[in-house]
Amino acid sequence: MATQWIGSPNRDKGREGYKPEAIVIHIMEGTLKGTDAWFRNEESGVSAHYGIGKAGEIHQYVGESDTAWHAGRMVAPTWRLLKPDVNPNWYTIGLEHEGRANEPWPDAMYDASAKLIDEICRRWSIPCDRDHIIGHREIRSDKTCPGFKVDLDQLIDMVKEIQQDSATFNFVKKPGIVKTRVDMNIRGQAPTTTVPVVRTIRRGKKLQYQGWTSNGLTVNGNAHWYKDSDDNYFWAGATERPIPGL
Ligand SMILES: [Zn+2]
Repeated sequence: MATQWIGSPNRDKGREGYKPEAIVIHIMEGTLKGTDAWFRNEESGVSAHYGIGKAGEIHQYVGESDTAWHAGRMVAPTWRLLKPDVNPNWYTIGLEHEGRANEPWPDAMYDASAKLIDEICRRWSIPCDRDHIIGHREIRSDKTCPGFKVDLDQLIDMVKEIQQDSATFNFVKKPGIVKTRVDMNIRGQAPTTTVPVVRTIRRGKKLQYQGWTSNGLTVNGNAHWYKDSDDNYFWAGATERPIPGL
């Protein structure tokens, strides 16, 4: 489903030198429509990067490179990776979800959230685990947000499934040979470091590939991965042709 841009005046340009390192899950305590109006209202003084509706709609209020105002207050935080004395808004992406704390999440909202989290994780090289996908109350313990119905472990498992499904990744079929620039790991069946290493190839070796994807896990700003004849992947940045086709 396409993302619909809504926008919000409640944001700061840039991130004070930080980049997104984690995703904060919120519950709206209301509707998607109400949240659109609330985030567009300067008086509210709050926003998030995205809002996800019960039917799987995705609305965007703030660009991912900019700071949204969703988790700026720290109250007895329990999050392991919290940086003391740094505004959490500078290094997190905020995802709002339609509904209330005690309402079960519909499958469509779970699915849309997992898909969006997968894309954000690949764009910003965010590991998909419980340290990096957190609930708002882990930063602000005087709130119940995101409620008691969402199972973050289940959400993370769904994201991992997407990340290991070959249909997630585009594919340019164009066989060739490339030389490794450093010792390099071949990854099993998916272009990401979250799947096991099949074998390690020494630097200076020539490898055959059947093509490549341009939307694998982003490593050092490069999301291109070559696919070998066994349908395994290796990161193009570890080769002498880091951007395939050039
Ligand atoms: Zn919240």
